[in-house]
Amino acid sequence: MWQGSGMRPYFPDLLATPVPRYTSFPTAAEFGDAVGPADMSVALGAIRPDEAVSLYLHIPYCEQVCWYCGCNTGAANRTARVAAYVRRLCEEITLVAEALGGRGKIGRIAWGGGSPNALAPEQFDALMQRLRRDFNHADAPLSIELDPRGFDEHWAGEIARNLVERVSLGVQTFAPHVQAAIGRVQPLEDIERVVGLLRLAGVKSINFDLMYGLPGQTLDDLDTTLTQALALAPERLAVFGYAHVPHLLPRQRRIDASALPDAAQRFRFAEHAQARLIAAGYQSIGFDHFALPGDEIAVAARAGWLRRNFQGFTEDPADVLIGLGASAISSFPGWLLQNEKNAGRYHLKIGNAAFATARGLRRTPLDQRRGRAIEQILCAGSADLDGLPDLADIRARLAAFEERDLIGWTGSRLTLLPDALPYARAIAATLDPYRQTSAARFSNAV
Ligand code: SF4
Repeated sequence: MWQGSGMRPYFPDLLATPVPRYTSFPTAAEFGDAVGPADMSVALGAIRPDEAVSLYLHIPYCEQVCWYCGCNTGAANRTARVAAYVRRLCEEITLVAEALGGRGKIGRIAWGGGSPNALAPEQFDALMQRLRRDFNHADAPLSIELDPRGFDEHWAGEIARNLVERVSLGVQTFAPHVQAAIGRVQPLEDIERVVGLLRLAGVKSINFDLMYGLPGQTLDDLDTTLTQALALAPERLAVFGYAHVPHLLPRQRRIDASALPDAAQRFRFAEHAQARLIAAGYQSIGFDHFALPGDEIAVAARAGWLRRNFQGFTEDPADVLIGLGASAISSFPGWLLQNEKNAGRYHLKIGNAAFATARGLRRTPLDQRRGRAIEQILCAGSADLDGLPDLADIRARLAAFEERDLIGWTGSRLTLLPDALPYARAIAATLDPYRQTSAARFSNAV
């Protein structure tokens, strides 16, 4: 098993360069403005009648904006603005559905943001009704990201009525002093209340997002948070390292950089979380997800069909993901296409009955081959690199990992060894030609 069980050797030199999280390849740092609505039209036109298609709806609002947040979101403090956005999103759903003309089989629908529950429950229901009216997706599994703050019985009623199967809750930490330091105060009792409501509403799989590397956070804080999280028995957990990039995300300037754990501490935190969750019976999924063995994503990982998309590791097998809403990214084998980030320009385009595609890129066959290899490295810990024209350069870049017994080669097949998990993104980045030349900033490698 390439993930091992935690407490692996620390080689700081191999983690010194920030690397992408590879939720796509090429990454969003490579997006440009050479693509537009015409590409969206061609990409949608190429979808086959029975092709599996997933939908993602982006809600760029939150009741309160957390200081650490890297998402495209803003405060939902103007009801009229949110209502206008919901109207445009309804229009975009119809626009895309008309372009598909019944082609494509909707297999999954995911809601994210922001916080979808920044909408009123009735607005969520109206959007669900529009999806049902315009797309043929009678029983597509539904998943949604929720902010526990402000989640109430009315929302739980919509979750039950719409048969939502999976919910991801932003938890991050239960330590009150760390919550105060990141601008997200939500007592443990709030999370307990929300989990209770979701269970009553019939949600099958609950995920907690947790973070390490937060200001003032100690190993004890993380350990206590893990104990408290485990007591609530979520089916999945994702444990992310906090990425402090205030030059890119001005809202992070409120975070005291002098209180952030250093790289060696971050490494220990990640290893500790991994060891504790595995000891508690969770299966390690990719490099930062964990799931109970019976959860769908754990079954997918064992069967070798785990995938990676903009939502992270997933059991969703679809090669086409259509993103709806401001800043949402659509992924097709030959394109990555992102909608206007700016809400005003998004309104304008959709209001003119045009796709809101503003940035992205066309993926060459070599991009697709490379992207698949990166995905296999991160999902399964192994990929055959045969056919990559720069294989000799990649091997040279990987020599330092090979010397430390983190990888092995069988012909052109690269395999990550049991201690490699904390280095998985750094290993994947050796296949990425853009990272050899670009100075774009990414998050710490662990
Ligand atoms: S609730 Fe989530 S999406 Fe909204 S600001 Fe906080 S971290 Fe970001």
